[in-house]
Amino acid sequence: MPNLLLFLCEGLVYVVVMVGLLHLRHVLGLGVFVAALGVLHFIETYLAAVFYVQLPFGVISPGSAVLFAGKLMMILLLYVKEDAATVRQPIYGLLAGNFLTVGLGLILQMHQTVSAVPGRNADLAFIDEMGWLMLWGTLLLYIDSLLIILLYEKLGRWLRDHVILRILICGVVVLTFDQAGFYIALHAINGAPASVFWGGWIAKMGAALFYATAIGLYLKYLSHPVRSGPRPPIADIFNTLTFRERYEDLLSKSGRDMLTGAHDRSRFEFEAPRVIRNAVAKGTVVSLLMIDADHFKSINDRFGHIEGDHVLKSISHAIQSALREGDHLFRYGGEEFVVLCEGLTHGDAMMRAEDLRLGVLTTVMTADHSTVTVSIGVASTPADGATTIDLLSQADKRLYEAKRRGRNCIVGNL
Ligand code: GH3
Ligand code: MG
Ligand code: MG
Repeated sequence: MPNLLLFLCEGLVYVVVMVGLLHLRHVLGLGVFVAALGVLHFIETYLAAVFYVQLPFGVISPGSAVLFAGKLMMILLLYVKEDAATVRQPIYGLLAGNFLTVGLGLILQMHQTVSAVPGRNADLAFIDEMGWLMLWGTLLLYIDSLLIILLYEKLGRWLRDHVILRILICGVVVLTFDQAGFYIALHAINGAPASVFWGGWIAKMGAALFYATAIGLYLKYLSHPVRSGPRPPIADIFNTLTFRERYEDLLSKSGRDMLTGAHDRSRFEFEAPRVIRNAVAKGTVVSLLMIDADHFKSINDRFGHIEGDHVLKSISHAIQSALREGDHLFRYGGEEFVVLCEGLTHGDAMMRAEDLRLGVLTTVMTADHSTVTVSIGVASTPADGATTIDLLSQADKRLYEAKRRGRNCIVGNL
């Protein structure tokens, strides 16, 4: 059975070299392992497109059975040895490199080629075909990579001490998913018969067994102990793998007002309509509090703008500490703030406004220890309308009324 033996040889060479490079990452740098993984992708795709050999159970390509299965296992091993933030680098590198390859392929096809070596012409159809398969394969690889890592984590609860079995289950599940996904494309493009699916699947299951055993033994006997301690929740791992945590981080920093730390006006314009729309759709209520500092101009005039800024910051903190879950604070203008309260009826919003007013009155002071006060106008769905504009203009009118009544007070729906 020389073909089967050759497959075993290829798997062995692959796993020894790649695990070796990963093992020596602290000496060589991780880039060596990652670049090798990327280079192998080229021959993997080429082999999977045209290089097939006959095995007892079907026609198999080393491209998928050895190289593709191996790559997925190496991604998992990298995650096991490092973490989600590290493993996402090759995952996205492969994604970017493959898209770039397909993009360049599209341009390359427009060349008029000459045969520099007699009798050998560029196979443009191959480039074209490989392009589509590669796009599909790339997307599948991306999903496979996330899946295998999340599954590995999920299985940790039951199989913490059975590393070979844990990796084997990951390999079996994800490679089966991948084989189904890739076969659908192969069938659509080349009309590949069902035997291609089953042959490839059996080969991938063999590969899963081979790699799980090899990697499991490595982790058990040759590798330095894998990091221990509490693992982050699966949702956090997913967020890291997909860069979502960076996005959320960015989102939480952007739209912030530099001085007070509250969300800014642009964030209000973005979020208020969504919050109000959701509440109306769910049949719940929203209240809007419009807050304006009293006689703020005179604070600036008496103590200067720097001290004025300091007072503004204290007002924002005082409001923030009186808020509850579902309340969102925005700096609407100079010394004007808006608080959106999800799920708060008008009566409750009036009480929340009173908490804010008292919070400012009792904690914020100017340099000469005189008190600082705010006036608040309150508006709520549904009585005052169902849009941001409705609530804003009602609250603004009531704020004006509060000023007229002498300030340091609250006005709601009378
Ligand atoms: P009223 O009680 O009627 O609200 O009186 P007011 O003096 O607060 O009047 P108004 O709201 O019209 O004036 C707001 C003042 O707040 C004007 C401006 O100088 C000051 N201001 C606005 N933004 C800032 C800021 O970022 N820092 C400082 N120090 N002052 C600001
Ligand atoms: Mg004011
Ligand atoms: Mg004002």
